Amino acid sequence: MWFSKRLPVAAPHSPRRRPYRPAVGSLEARLVPTMTFHGGSVIPHVKVQALYLGSDWSSSARLYQQTGQLEGFCQYVVHSRYMTMLGSMGYGVGRGSWSQGAIDPLVIDKGYYLEDSAIQGRIQDAISAGDLRSPDASRLYVVFVEGGVSLIDGAGDSSDGAQGDSGGYFGYHNQFDGGDAYGRGVAIHYAVVTYPGAGNPYDRHLHGAQRVVGTMTSTASHEIAEAATDPDGDGWFDARGNEVGDVADDDALLGGYVVQALVNKRERECVPPGARWLSHEYFGAAPYDSPFSGDARDHRHGQPAPFDHTVSDAVFAAGPGLAMK
Ligand SMILES: [Zn+2]
Repeated sequence: MWFSKRLPVAAPHSPRRRPYRPAVGSLEARLVPTMTFHGGSVIPHVKVQALYLGSDWSSSARLYQQTGQLEGFCQYVVHSRYMTMLGSMGYGVGRGSWSQGAIDPLVIDKGYYLEDSAIQGRIQDAISAGDLRSPDASRLYVVFVEGGVSLIDGAGDSSDGAQGDSGGYFGYHNQFDGGDAYGRGVAIHYAVVTYPGAGNPYDRHLHGAQRVVGTMTSTASHEIAEAATDPDGDGWFDARGNEVGDVADDDALLGGYVVQALVNKRERECVPPGARWLSHEYFGAAPYDSPFSGDARDHRHGQPAPFDHTVSDAVFAAGPGLAMK
């Protein structure tokens, strides 16, 4: 093996989640949605390492093969235009780096929700055992949970939508006060990605061979972008608490991998140059195979469309793919 040793029915469509933050809104901000910086931190060059949580990742040939695809994705995306697009948008984030991941062959009882506190504990154990790179301000662990496991986050919301009021979710990012490999206190940043299917949502835009791994890479791209631009909840988000991946959920193909579109500061949906849209529902106007490929400009055929807060408010109220928390 190339790894180190340590290795319910879902809603058809659900937002990726971010940690709960009370909304701080102003009337003006509600009328003109914009991503704003809240004076805290970003991760300019994120250092991504995956942790595959659950014994199925090593015991199932199918899942083990998928770890290879997910490793390829993580290595690709941190060096890709997906990250430099965030710089073009003015978020102060660029290319990152990648380290080989690890499997944690935890036997998970799929009859229960896997709680966020348990995930934090496994991350800390893997760090303390030297199975993950030591954490620092730039490190981001991306935890892929094996199939058939529904999560419950710190706010009591479950990924299958049965608990709490989120309606279900694909993943989230978070941080906790932990320790590095030497026992020194450090904030540990991580993202969690659910396995689509039993007990978790699928990405409704994806079909066929893209459906399982594509849902996971789309979610991972969303969470990596958000963890880089808002690692501690005091970075980039709008007056509704939406981070850069939360406003729209369309997908695109970049380098052979499914990634999720992000929004610029004016909350226009963008994908990097060279990406191909796989879905295009946000604002409902562009064709499925729109030739436009972002470059951090407005997604409507690359034109700097005048902002229409009426349209945007309607999308906020009823549009697809909105994380409302
Ligand atoms: Zn999000």
